[in-house]
Amino acid sequence: MVLPLGLTVPFMEDEPTTYFASRLAARNFLNARPFAADLGFSYSALDRGCEVAISRLSEIAGVPISALTENASRPLGEWLQLRGQLIDPKSRRNSRLAVCPACLEADVARGDRDPSIAIRGRLPWTLKSIRTCAVHHMALVNIPQNDRMPLRHDWSQLVAPVLPQIKALTDSTIRRPPSKLEGYLIDRLQGNADECWLNSMEFYAAEHLAQLFGSAALYGDKVALNLSDDEKYTAGDVGFDIVKDGPKGIPDFLSKMQSQFVRRDRTAGAASVYGRIYARLTVLSEDPGFASVHDIVSDHIMSSFPVGPGDFIFRKPVSTRRYHSVLTLSKQFGCRESRIEKVLRLEGLLPDRHDSGRDVLFEAARAEQLIEREMQSLTLAEAERRLGASANVMKILLDGGFVQRRRVSKGPHGLRFWADELDSFLARILEGTQPVEENADETMSVSYASAHARCTISTIFQLILDRKLRWVGRRIDRSGLDALLVNPEDLRHALNRPTEDGLSAIDAAERLRLAPAVMRRLAERKILGSFTIRDPMTGHEKLRFAPNEIDRFASAYVSLFNLGRTLGQKAARVRKDLDARGVKPAQELLGLDAIFYRRSDLEIRE
Ligand SMILES: [Zn+2]
Repeated sequence: MVLPLGLTVPFMEDEPTTYFASRLAARNFLNARPFAADLGFSYSALDRGCEVAISRLSEIAGVPISALTENASRPLGEWLQLRGQLIDPKSRRNSRLAVCPACLEADVARGDRDPSIAIRGRLPWTLKSIRTCAVHHMALVNIPQNDRMPLRHDWSQLVAPVLPQIKALTDSTIRRPPSKLEGYLIDRLQGNADECWLNSMEFYAAEHLAQLFGSAALYGDKVALNLSDDEKYTAGDVGFDIVKDGPKGIPDFLSKMQSQFVRRDRTAGAASVYGRIYARLTVLSEDPGFASVHDIVSDHIMSSFPVGPGDFIFRKPVSTRRYHSVLTLSKQFGCRESRIEKVLRLEGLLPDRHDSGRDVLFEAARAEQLIEREMQSLTLAEAERRLGASANVMKILLDGGFVQRRRVSKGPHGLRFWADELDSFLARILEGTQPVEENADETMSVSYASAHARCTISTIFQLILDRKLRWVGRRIDRSGLDALLVNPEDLRHALNRPTEDGLSAIDAAERLRLAPAVMRRLAERKILGSFTIRDPMTGHEKLRFAPNEIDRFASAYVSLFNLGRTLGQKAARVRKDLDARGVKPAQELLGLDAIFYRRSDLEIRE
């Protein structure tokens, strides 16, 4: 059984557990380490928050374990845990103490103990980030460092040199309220911080973040590494207001930095603009304690700079792009900046002709679509060359809807052709064509075949696309549509001439050796039976003659011209002879631009 010590001191609510043990040792006229060793525990272990050491201290001091545990810090991974908060070990004051002389003076003034034992440390003083006493609104005073290892964390020994100066220090130390950051950190240690976004971050990260942003706001990125205590105090005050509401305050501050940034060159990215903030957050990129800050700042960078795939934010590759600049568009498309600017201006996205527009951001998807279109668009002349089409054929292709023009921008030159659309049309029409050395017998170019078969070029293209021709050739010494060859017989067959639907006026005229115009008149006057059909290619009405009607007409009538040819005589001579014999032209066929005789009249007179 362990007996409590005879000489004790009261444990105070805000007193670090090791400091209390030190005070207890001093009360018993010993330094902390030998005192602890005598009583069966390790002072170093107590400093590490060891449960055995705390339990032993509890027994000998008569203080509940829970109270001692509450004020002890213990390692947790790379951090120290104190009062449920994660603290950076580097931000803990070890043998370099800082104290509020007014607090010490108050301890002495109570008069119930010897001053060397009455003065006690406070939890907030153990943190470097706290430089002000919230009770007395007084800056903490640094006590000269004592490097003797055995005295490490031995409060009473370390603070002893200050004892004679307490009064003088209280009078001389500057008074100031705690900075907003100090007030917040003290409240957090006491478990009563006001609700704010910063509470979602671990203690060490909240502290670091406020200091970082405050330094950037006040001192830029030049002197931030060597700030004095007073400068750090002010930075904490300013920084806390910037970061306390996280996504509500941080982006605003970053935007302000960007607007005030003195542009060194137009490619300056987030790293240049945000300076030390960016550099520190990059160093901290693997620290999960800062993940939410990385998210907020990354999101802001994505919306404020033309970053995209190929770029990095905090060492992480950027996977998507929200905004482009003229420069990034130029790089992505391998295209002159002046051309990019022209397209964007035509679209009204770059308002001022005199503005270089290089700082302007463009919504990425829209800008890429505009440039892509423009990049792959062709002028009429370029389109003709690509298709191997003459100006005439190009017009036919446009009129027939085989290819289309697209508007890529305003103005007279805004109508263009999409290269991929032209290529796709060309591929379809050339598919399955037979390579041919040159214009072989029985083959014709499309335009020649069109004249020969009396059908439109458009019809031939459609027949080729519909695979209605049995053979289509491609001259290997030409390119595009210009290389196409068709077979006229094949074409005639595909065009269905002659057909069971009757003969066209042209074909019927050919058979009767008459002019096509005469055939039409014969049809109009119903001397020759005819009908109309709808051309499947063009949709136009077409006149047709039944072959038996042609035969009937041919057996009933003969034209003077054809009679002369049959007789091997000139028409005028034949007519004179017939007149002399009293044979008159067929009266019902007068006025047809051709003179006809009834075969029956000719026979009777012969
Ligand atoms: Zn104080």
